[in-house]
Amino acid sequence: MEEIKTIGVLTSGGDAPGMNAAIRAVVRSAIFNGFAVKGIRHGYNGLLTDDIFDMNLRSVSEIIHRGGTMLFTARSDEFMTDKGQKKAVETCNRYGIDALIVIGGDGSFRGCRALAKLGIKCIGIPCTIDNDIACSDYTIGFDTALNTAMEMIDKLRDTTQSHERCSVVEVMGRHAGYIAVNTGIATGALCILIPEIPVDIDRDVIERIKETHKEGKKNFLIVVAEGVGKALDIAEEVQQKTGIDTRATVLGHVQRGGSPSLRDRVVAAQMGVHAVELLQLKNYNRVVALRGEKITDYSIEEALAMKKELDPMLIGVAKVVSI
Ligand code: ATP
Repeated sequence: MEEIKTIGVLTSGGDAPGMNAAIRAVVRSAIFNGFAVKGIRHGYNGLLTDDIFDMNLRSVSEIIHRGGTMLFTARSDEFMTDKGQKKAVETCNRYGIDALIVIGGDGSFRGCRALAKLGIKCIGIPCTIDNDIACSDYTIGFDTALNTAMEMIDKLRDTTQSHERCSVVEVMGRHAGYIAVNTGIATGALCILIPEIPVDIDRDVIERIKETHKEGKKNFLIVVAEGVGKALDIAEEVQQKTGIDTRATVLGHVQRGGSPSLRDRVVAAQMGVHAVELLQLKNYNRVVALRGEKITDYSIEEALAMKKELDPMLIGVAKVVSI
């Protein structure tokens, strides 16, 4: 098999704190190991618009602690087409990019699978605040997002308590309740609504508020994952059915920002170094993963076929402590 000389690196899909730390680890370990590195801006779009530049050790100075991504990120519709993918391969060939390291989520790894079929060697690094990548227990960005959401909800809790209100807080998670269940437990929410468990608002929210209100509880916190429904609709229903002053708060994109936590920086460094090691070992078309405390990897096919379930123990804990 041909030797790899030049590695391209890009960030794709939704941004997550720690993307910069992952880019830094990839660039530094690639250069230390004798590879040339090219940065590709705006996700796969950069391969369609030639938004590509040479990176050196200094290109990634002063980014380890910054949120966002110095390479920018994007969702590329053009790249989803056969024509777009062929154009991306042509670009790689023109720039002498022999292998790509893609930092992103499942969608981005589907992009890797498409490129791998066309002969580009790819490695995926799981980086998304949702922690919804099946092959890995952990995705870069998750810890920072959880702590951001927790701090915001703690602040809301203060004002909810002062006014003896109910707060319905919407956190990110279209298909997965990881952020909701963790922040709900951490902030002592009365109800945690997640997409994995069918929700009956009357039974799971209204009745619980009424019961605890009768027992003397004066303020109420409901954490809802965005995939379950809109906080505003739930808040209106709660107010109408309980008579308790209820406000909705959507945390939104604030959860994607901020300086990455220690955990996210360290996992980003481990995964970035492992991704380059895989290329050195000619072990191509893999997704890096964290299993327990160990960094490992799976073939892209295997990684995309895997399913992940929210830890039933965490759900059990949420049920017990959410009172
Ligand atoms: P997040 O979990 O944060 O949303 P993601 O990587 O899953 O991240 P997506 O928007 O699903 O985000 O995918 C990012 C990009 O990957 C898409 O815009 C597209 O360019 C590419 N992509 C997604 N699915 C495919 C596919 N089936 N084939 C080729 N490319 C794809």
